[in-house]
Amino acid sequence: MTVPPDIPHQRRQTRWRTLFFITFGALLIVTAMNLFCPLRGPDTAPTPVTPGAPATLIDPVATTPSPTAPQAAPEKARPDAYALSFLLATSFYNTFADNEEVARLTEETGIRKLAERLSAHVARNLVWNLDMRKEVYPGDELDLVFRVIPPEEQAKRADTPDEIELLAMRYRSVKLAKEFRIYRFKASDRQFPAYYNADGTAVEKALKRSPLKDWIQITSLLKDRRPKHDGIDFKAPVGTPIYAPWSGIVEKTNWKTRYNGYSLLARLDTSPAVQMILLHLDKVHLKPGQRFAAGDHLADVGNTGRSFAPHLHYQLQYEARKIIDPLKYHGTVTAKLPAGDAEAFRKTIQEFDGRWGR
Ligand SMILES: [Zn+2]
Repeated sequence: MTVPPDIPHQRRQTRWRTLFFITFGALLIVTAMNLFCPLRGPDTAPTPVTPGAPATLIDPVATTPSPTAPQAAPEKARPDAYALSFLLATSFYNTFADNEEVARLTEETGIRKLAERLSAHVARNLVWNLDMRKEVYPGDELDLVFRVIPPEEQAKRADTPDEIELLAMRYRSVKLAKEFRIYRFKASDRQFPAYYNADGTAVEKALKRSPLKDWIQITSLLKDRRPKHDGIDFKAPVGTPIYAPWSGIVEKTNWKTRYNGYSLLARLDTSPAVQMILLHLDKVHLKPGQRFAAGDHLADVGNTGRSFAPHLHYQLQYEARKIIDPLKYHGTVTAKLPAGDAEAFRKTIQEFDGRWGR
């Protein structure tokens, strides 16, 4: 039986459908914009958040840190480093989004999506130390110091498209009864500053047979379970050389360039055979059918295709697209600061440890 069309009902449906698509579209855009803010805690229903302690203005170059008194903002010079304290809410992201001080600083600094950026920076460090889904609990404590990068400095820097820089953070896990203290530091053996634990070990694990010799940060891991994201992302400047982890043969290059950008798919001489996929490249140096040896320069990091900042998407898979975790397949090493950096790092720790809110 055919039901006669109910016009007003249909119109209502169309309206709802339009609304749905607009909302869905906005959501997609937000997701797309956050390629580099992919790590989130479980987004549960918003809950009232215990506001963190007020933001303390910090002069990052001050030589005599005062552990107690919050410093007043100088009237003329815009201070560019801020300290924030949080008590974790039920949602990791809401902890930032609902924080009054973050809202105030968003206005004061004019930085778009400050809450999102801060939560992403923190999560990228935290993810190496604990399970963001199971071990982040309401009541955990977080202190951080971040800095606003002035536009004139940002223009000269190849290592970040971001307007903020996380300088140090401290996380106290109730469940694990552990405290993580993490500091941004430029080691003498690395090209870019990275994050180190208080004991001088690098927060990020490095891949054995790494496709990159130097990178800025690993911004996405398989365990983030970002939908349709099957690799790990290395943030690195355009032109950074990519080396073959194992020998193999190039199967294809530059397909679906609108999404993948310049890209390379190779079959590695491993047993069983593993396919390696490199996306968003600047230049591909090999052609399909060409063989390469381990350590050969295959391509360069770029920002092509659906990419919002220079990075390498690195993916490993068995036949039939069975995705492999590169961290497990390669095996990892934990880098430690060179002995010669110990004194400078000790000073960095001292500078921030005197400033935590609690
Ligand atoms: Zn990726």
